[in-house]
Amino acid sequence: MKLFDRLFREKRKSEDYTDRSNRDMMRLTYLVVFAFVCLIAYEGWFLAVKREDVINNSYNARLDGFAERVVRGSILSSDGTVLAETLVDEDGNETRNYPQGRLFSNVIGYSTMGKTGLEELAHFYLLTSHINLIEQCFRQLIGEKNPGDNVITTLDMELQKAAYDALGDRRGAVIAMEPDTGKVLVMVSRPGFDPNTLVQDWDSLTAEGNSSALLLNRATQGLYPPGSIFKTIMVLEYIRENPGTWEDFSFDCDGAYEDGEYTIRCYHGNAHGSQTLIQAYANSCNGAFAVLGKELDLERLKAASEELLFNKELPLSIASSPSTYVMDSGADLWEILQTSIGQGRTQITPMHFTLLTAAIANGGTLMNPYFIDRVENVGGDQIRKFMPSVYGNLLPAEEAACLAAMMRQVAEIGTGSALRTDAYAAAGKTGSAEFESGKETHAWFTGFAPADNPKLVVTVLVEEGGSGGGAAAPVARNIFDIYFAR
Ligand SMILES: [Zn+2]
Repeated sequence: MKLFDRLFREKRKSEDYTDRSNRDMMRLTYLVVFAFVCLIAYEGWFLAVKREDVINNSYNARLDGFAERVVRGSILSSDGTVLAETLVDEDGNETRNYPQGRLFSNVIGYSTMGKTGLEELAHFYLLTSHINLIEQCFRQLIGEKNPGDNVITTLDMELQKAAYDALGDRRGAVIAMEPDTGKVLVMVSRPGFDPNTLVQDWDSLTAEGNSSALLLNRATQGLYPPGSIFKTIMVLEYIRENPGTWEDFSFDCDGAYEDGEYTIRCYHGNAHGSQTLIQAYANSCNGAFAVLGKELDLERLKAASEELLFNKELPLSIASSPSTYVMDSGADLWEILQTSIGQGRTQITPMHFTLLTAAIANGGTLMNPYFIDRVENVGGDQIRKFMPSVYGNLLPAEEAACLAAMMRQVAEIGTGSALRTDAYAAAGKTGSAEFESGKETHAWFTGFAPADNPKLVVTVLVEEGGSGGGAAAPVARNIFDIYFAR
């Protein structure tokens, strides 16, 4: 009996000990589980909220960590053509390859010597892998990298090529965008650079005194005098200051308008004769706009320009230069005359004018321009889809309709005759901007079609191309023709 008691006590002691030890174990387990949950929660929070910010900072060291685990994904055009991809050789060496060469160079950008263009914009997606977890773990075990996601852009292969070819050897930029969605279909900048030899060419591309600016995306960063396309803004302000009477405006053009010691000439000294406001705009009569400009309230004109995104960052997800408008109420006569015809100190990027034209075509509402349609994993499953979004109203619908009607006249009766066709009704504005005496003018065109239900906006700038109607409008015609033949 005693023995039994003793044994029983011993057993109890041992059970106590076991209980205690079990409790300790449980505590430890809870602690580990808790720590694990915290870790998962942090990872989840990081993945969902913070990761994009951290990774998108090009200078963050964490980036290298991702590049060590993921092979950078591909960038594709809207029809699935590869624009950028990473090739991996047998030894695991990676090379970023651009099968289209210079065709997309400035808009796609690069990822080796810093990051620009869509390579920068899509950086996070390209270095994120959404293949299934089992495959990810398996690859990690055998020491292989995971394939990054692919980014399908809004860029249209056929139209991009047409725009690039139409520019030929001339320097310049072409943009095409859907005004009702903001999708950018074309962004050409010539001459551009060869993205496949960027590293080797880097020193010469960035050498001081290299005036070609091949790395500059002329479409978004190139600042040019607007020339006559600025007359659209002059017309808008004139209509605002003269409601009900603007249609009475008239001017008799003999090819050269003289005011004191200054002379404003129409293109090639053309005498336009008697001009209404609509005719003066359609024929791009400089004399008429010099007179009109003198009547305007310069403070209001500046405010109107700034409402139309001058002196502001554009709503754009890749690098761009703000356009500049500097004339204010203290301006002298010469500056007023020059600014009124788009010369003087005003400067604009082709992208800016694309956005203004898009807003006019879209009833005054500007859609945010965008380049990425969707992100897919390497197996083609959709990971993320981007939808159109509204930037805001740049001008009231009735003013937009009025300007759109006047732009239609440019193609019908004016300088945009290259856009005359039975296939669709185009509208737009041409410009021939002087930038240095003795040199050919920069040729501009910005417009849309069809006039009554705009589907596509096109802006063309040809450096030293001559007249907008002769050099830039035919490039736009090319793109409209292909687009509306589909
Ligand atoms: Zn004239």
